[in-house]
Amino acid sequence: METKYIFVTGGVVSSLGKGIISSSVACLLKARGYRVTIQKFDPYINIDPGTLNPYEHGECYVTVDGHEADLDLGHYERFTDIQTTRANNITTGRIYQSVIDKERRGDYLGKTVQIVPHITDEIKRNVKLLANTGNFDFIITEIGGTVGDIESLPFIESVRQLRWELGSNCICIHLTYVPYIAAAKELKTKPTQHSVKQLQEVGIQPDILVLRTEKNITPEVRRKIALFCNVAPEAVIQSIDVPTIYEVPIKMHEQHLDEIILKKMGVPVEGEPHMAPWLNFLEKMDKATEDVTIGIVGKYVELQDAYKSINESLFQAATYNDHRLNLRFIHSEKVNNDNIESYLKDLDGVVIAPGFGQRGIEGKFAALKWCREHNVPTFGICLGMQCMVIEFARDVLGLEDANSTEMEPSAKNNVIDLMEEQKSISNLGGTMRLGAYECKLAPDSIAAKAYGSTLVKERHRHRFEFNNDYREQFEAAGMKCVGENPATHLVEVVEIPSLRWFTGTQYHPEYSSTVLHPNPLFLSFVKAAIDYKHEKNK
Ligand code: GLN
Repeated sequence: METKYIFVTGGVVSSLGKGIISSSVACLLKARGYRVTIQKFDPYINIDPGTLNPYEHGECYVTVDGHEADLDLGHYERFTDIQTTRANNITTGRIYQSVIDKERRGDYLGKTVQIVPHITDEIKRNVKLLANTGNFDFIITEIGGTVGDIESLPFIESVRQLRWELGSNCICIHLTYVPYIAAAKELKTKPTQHSVKQLQEVGIQPDILVLRTEKNITPEVRRKIALFCNVAPEAVIQSIDVPTIYEVPIKMHEQHLDEIILKKMGVPVEGEPHMAPWLNFLEKMDKATEDVTIGIVGKYVELQDAYKSINESLFQAATYNDHRLNLRFIHSEKVNNDNIESYLKDLDGVVIAPGFGQRGIEGKFAALKWCREHNVPTFGICLGMQCMVIEFARDVLGLEDANSTEMEPSAKNNVIDLMEEQKSISNLGGTMRLGAYECKLAPDSIAAKAYGSTLVKERHRHRFEFNNDYREQFEAAGMKCVGENPATHLVEVVEIPSLRWFTGTQYHPEYSSTVLHPNPLFLSFVKAAIDYKHEKNK
C-alpha cells in the first residue's frame, strides 16, 4: 500500500485537543492492523521545547532517542504504543535552521532563499522523511497552532501543496469548536464556518470536520455545517466532552471516523478494529469504585499539564489496580516541617516531582522527611530522587549542609553533583543527558521485582547525578543504590529497603507508560499505596 497522509489542523481556539484526536485516529488505524506514526509540527522558533518552562508549554516530553519534545508526543505514545523519535516533532526553528545551514553550505547557490519554495520544501521533506523509512502505511501530521495564525502559514501552505501532489493519498481533518450559548440555549456554528472559510482561503478544503462541543450536535446543526463547509454530513463528527480522554477513540469509532478516513483514501474497509484490550482498560476504569489517593509534591501544581505523563501513568496504574485515582497536588513552596502533616496525612502514596532549580526544594525535603518517618509509599522522580538523597544525607547521615551543586555550586557535601560530561557544556538547549539508557537493578530490589527483570531501559533528562563518593556511607545507613548504569556506574535507582516502598529513580519512568503497557514501577507503587491504605484502615 502506498503511504497515506492525514493532516490534522485546528481552528477557532487553541487547546481543543488536536493531539487527542490525532492519537485517537492513530489508535483506531493501528487497531485495524496498519502501521501508523504521528508527527507534530510546532510553529514556534525554538528548536525544541526543552528550553521552555512549564508555564509556557506544559511538560517537556522525552523520546527514546533523546529528543525534548512537545507533550502531545506523550499522548501519541500513550494511545498507540508507537515509539516516537526526533523525526516526530519539528518546529519552525528546526526548519529554518536547516534551510539556513543549507544556504551557508551553498546548496542554493545563486538563488534567493524564500519561504515558498525553500521553507515549504523543507517542511514537505520532513513530512515525507517518515514515509521514506518504508515503515508506515499512515503518517498523521498534526499542525500546531490555529489556522489563521501568522506563524502556521508556511505549514498550512505545505499541506496545500502536498494535497495537490498526493491526491487521494492525502486528507485533511479540521478540528473546530461549536460553542453552546446558554442564554440562547443554542449551539453556534458560525465560528466553525469562519474557520473553514479561512482554510479554504489558503487553498485547503477539509475532508472531515471534528467538532469539539459540550452538548450533542443535533442533526440539523450537522447538516448546516456540512452545507456551509462543503463537507459530507457523515464526515462531520462530534467530539463531545468525555470524563477521560481514553474514551475518545471509542467515541470516534462509534461515528465511523476510521471507516470514513479509509474510504476517502480508497482503502477497502474490512472488519472492525481490534479494540478489545482498550475496551478492557475502559471497563476496568468504569468498574472501579474504590479510591487510591496519591499526592504529587512539586512547584508547578497549579498547571494542569506540567506533570502530564506522571498524572497519566498514575491513572493507568490505578486503573489496572482496579482503583480510581484521586490525585492531589501539593505546592512545594507552601509546605514545611510544621504544616506538612496536614497535607500528607490522608494520602496513600506520595510522588516527589521532577524539576529544576531551588524554588520549592525545601518543601520537597519536608515532604520526604515526613514520608520516610511515617513509612508512606514514596516515589521520587529525577529531581525527586535527588531530593530523597539530599534529605537522607541531612537528616540520617547528619551532613546538615548536604546539597546538590545545582542549588549550591560550592556545597561541601555535594551528594548530588554535576555529571562529568556536563562540565564542559555551556549551551542550554538539548545538552542534558537525554533519552533511553540501560539500568541494572539489584535482584532483591523493589524496582527489579516490579519490572520482573534486572535490566531495564528508561528515559532521562538531567545534568546532575548521585555522587558515588558517598555511596558506602548511604548504603551503611540504609539507603541502597539498587540501580546503576552498567557502563558508567551512574546511580539510577535508590531505595530504603526497610520501608514499605521508598524508591527514587534518576530516570523518568512516566515517559514509557502507555494505556496498553503501563509502566511496572507505577503499577507497583500504586499497589503499595493501596495495600498501605488497607493497612491504615484496619
Ligand atoms: N535538575 C535536575 C538535574 O538536572 C533534575 C532534572 C529533572 O528532574 N528532570 O539533574
